[in-house]
Amino acid sequence: MQSLSNRAKKLEKKPMTFAERAYLPAIFQGLSITMQHFFRAATKKQITIRYPEETRPFSPVFRGLHVLKRDEQGRERCTACGLCAVACPAEAITMVAGERKKGEQNLYREEKYAVSYEINMLRCIFCGLCEEACPKAAIYLQADKMAPPRYERDEFIYGKDRLVEPTSPDNRSARGIQLTPEQAEKLRTQLA
Ligand code: SF4
Ligand code: SF4
Repeated sequence: MQSLSNRAKKLEKKPMTFAERAYLPAIFQGLSITMQHFFRAATKKQITIRYPEETRPFSPVFRGLHVLKRDEQGRERCTACGLCAVACPAEAITMVAGERKKGEQNLYREEKYAVSYEINMLRCIFCGLCEEACPKAAIYLQADKMAPPRYERDEFIYGKDRLVEPTSPDNRSARGIQLTPEQAEKLRTQLA
């Protein structure tokens, strides 16, 4: 069939040589790449890092872990309108809305609030569309924190306990690494 773009090239299938049939060129090419990396690693400074204890600098446009923001009076900004969940292409966000009760005005900014709010970090593609869709400036993707490694899938479902901005910044480690002491010890043993 005639190509519409005229860019198609007709390739001739040449018979393979004995060396090619024995995979010799491919083997030597692979070995040469391995040796290049071996000597580069031996002569230069260490090129790997001990993640998660060490992290590399983030890109200025990095989109990482979400945070549900509080207003200037410390009240939760989210009104459980659901726009972020609708905008999410990965269907990673779920929530249950509730009515604010009398006396809870200091906890929630509006009459409706998120009783539960969950993001599945295994589904999330960190596109930032939830942040763009939010009319209350309630959800942001942090530029310097990523979901730390975990051993169980359930631990990647982030609820309000880990998403809502802490009232005191001390509740969270500076790099957002939230391993339990047992997990940190286990990881240290594996890396030792
Ligand atoms: S960053 Fe994208 S994929 Fe992740 S929760 Fe927000 S909208 Fe969904
Ligand atoms: S984070 Fe924003 S968009 Fe999502 S439910 Fe709360 S107020 Fe609505």
